[in-house]
Amino acid sequence: MRPIRARIDSAALRHNLGAARRRAPRSRICAVVKANAYGHGLARAARALAAAEGLALIELEAALELRRSGEKRPILLLQGFFSPEELEPIAAHDLITVVHDAEQLAMLGRARLPKRIAVVAKLNTGMNRLGFPAEDLRGVLDRLRDCPSVAVIALMTHFADADGKRGVRWQLERFDAATAGVDLPKSVANSAALLRYPEARKDWVRPGIMLYGCSPFPDESAEKLGLKPAMTLTSELIAVRELRPGDSVGYGGTYAASGAMRIGVVACGYADGYPRHAPTGTPVLVAGKRTRTVGRVAMDTLFADLTGIPEAAVGSPATLWGEGLPADEVAASAGTVSYELLCALSQRVPVSEAP
Ligand SMILES: *Cc1c(COP(=O)(O)O)cnc(C)c1O
Repeated sequence: MRPIRARIDSAALRHNLGAARRRAPRSRICAVVKANAYGHGLARAARALAAAEGLALIELEAALELRRSGEKRPILLLQGFFSPEELEPIAAHDLITVVHDAEQLAMLGRARLPKRIAVVAKLNTGMNRLGFPAEDLRGVLDRLRDCPSVAVIALMTHFADADGKRGVRWQLERFDAATAGVDLPKSVANSAALLRYPEARKDWVRPGIMLYGCSPFPDESAEKLGLKPAMTLTSELIAVRELRPGDSVGYGGTYAASGAMRIGVVACGYADGYPRHAPTGTPVLVAGKRTRTVGRVAMDTLFADLTGIPEAAVGSPATLWGEGLPADEVAASAGTVSYELLCALSQRVPVSEAP
């Protein structure tokens, strides 16, 4: 069997949830488990995150799967529904839906459901992606209250730059002004806001990436934030070769050895979810030692520089990210964020679980 494996560490998930809890002791936690729990496996993550008060995701089918497996907690659909046919299963399985635009309002207005559907009204406060204009809140609430099959249970917004320079204050001011005096629970914080802005914690927080042990910030490591990686992607060297000066490696020959050197071929490529655009120099661990990739990532393989690792041989372990090598660092080298690496873990990688 090909030696690539992803190991999911449930204790790390629990630990990271605890870190969120300590930062926001007065808020309830709605753990974000969209995209198959950021690649960690929905059922597995929901189990490990049993201490979270609620779950949030995008995919209706995944939410129904959680209910079928006996999940009793509130489940929030972060983009709501996309067609009127989805309202019936949402109501039947007690899912909570976001409502973010007029189209959804119209569908709710026409719906006649056997029981009321719980709705979270989403406001746009500057992200300009989803949400009603914050200043329209009163009108939106009036329209929702006119819907016979709806009960509004909370208000939310989403931050555009909680991890960056602009921060959250400018959006929080708009949200607070628009919602002043509206007696409903509020939720605004993603991981970055939860970690950096105490004033953004409110009634419910919605951490995602921090639960999986990665940092939302380009300038602060997960370790410094007290988080532990939940996914470790490992494989092995399946070939080792000696290069002579001038020999190039891989497709396009994008890397050429300047002197004699040893390289290892790691059984991991972009069909496993490793980013193809990770350039020469991306960090990788071989036999527990930090080195770099060289050449172009292929579908099933990548190359590791074995300089300074004379003990490396066929069968030596390689860590692509996770314990000992933060996914954030690999992502930064590849010009992306850890979110993308975690979600991209492919179907063909066998996943095991550490308790
Ligand atoms: C994905 C998502 C989150 C979680 O964001 P992280 O940066 O992973 O913490 C929170 N809220 C909404 C609306 C989301 O779509």
